[in-house]
Amino acid sequence: MEFAERYSRQVLFPPIGEEGQLRLAAARLAIVGCGATGSALLSLLSRAGVGYLRVIDRDYVEASNLQRQVLFDESDAAQSLPKAIAAARKIKGVNSQISVEPHAADLTPANVAELLGGVDLVLDGTDNFETRYLMNDYAVSKGLPWVYSAGVASYGVTMTVLPGETACLACVFPDSPRGAVETCDTSGILNSAVNFVASIAATEAMKLLVGARDSVRRTLLSYDVWTNEYAAISTATPRPGCRACDQRDFVHLAGEGRPHITMCGRNSVQIHERERPIDFEEMSRRLTPHGPVRHNEFVLKFWPDPYELTLFPDGRAIIKGTTDTAIARSLYARYVGT
Ligand SMILES: [Zn+2]
Repeated sequence: MEFAERYSRQVLFPPIGEEGQLRLAAARLAIVGCGATGSALLSLLSRAGVGYLRVIDRDYVEASNLQRQVLFDESDAAQSLPKAIAAARKIKGVNSQISVEPHAADLTPANVAELLGGVDLVLDGTDNFETRYLMNDYAVSKGLPWVYSAGVASYGVTMTVLPGETACLACVFPDSPRGAVETCDTSGILNSAVNFVASIAATEAMKLLVGARDSVRRTLLSYDVWTNEYAAISTATPRPGCRACDQRDFVHLAGEGRPHITMCGRNSVQIHERERPIDFEEMSRRLTPHGPVRHNEFVLKFWPDPYELTLFPDGRAIIKGTTDTAIARSLYARYVGT
């Protein structure tokens, strides 16, 4: 398909035009998290013609994702495909003229430089503040723009961070609002709320990538699609004394306070203590006497009653059916190794 024909309707929009379209084609961006927000961001920006998209996600597709995670279908859920892999496959059929690089991985202080290096912009499709603070510290330390997005229940929140110019995430939320804060696992989520926030964030990305920096929104925007409540708090300047912007104290890059065992959604625990390359064939044979097991190229699933253990090739595991890290750790030790 001709480049000009494919993007003709977008090129007609004067702030983009032919020059903007070429800039999008040359742009490189990373999307961290490919759930509901990440799916919508990837769908919009791949169709818009962003030339290179790196997708990082630690999770696999499940049936409960399909209500809002627009890139996935029933077959992805049946295969428990890693979201990054399933998303890259979908995008191939949408736009074969761009490149999508999937990483089925958890963004950590150890791999953040590798996974977020060499891009023009980072977009937030995650569901947790731990990863967002890591992204914020990396972005602010490198002067790399990023867009924060979150959706819970019927509202979405988003903010564009231009390091050194606007407020960053740590300016606005010096401490994680976690604890008091709702999550989609407790409050549910409307698909329209996430798609709304992703549309705003994708547009901010396009503005930045075509060089329309003056048009970037300099507020923390929150909008409730159900009650129609709207709020916009100015983020026009960094907060004096901000740990990241002002003190240049990037604690999250050092991995301080970051446990190797983390809660990961409702009723599950992620274990990622060190790299442990797993041979799925061999592991399958070993686990077969202990319960149902199946695997494909990307993921191995094992059901030691009443739990469900999902294992990735690098040794990372998500154990479903418990929030008790001691139980998760002992299952991992028993079936995968110590
Ligand atoms: Zn700041």
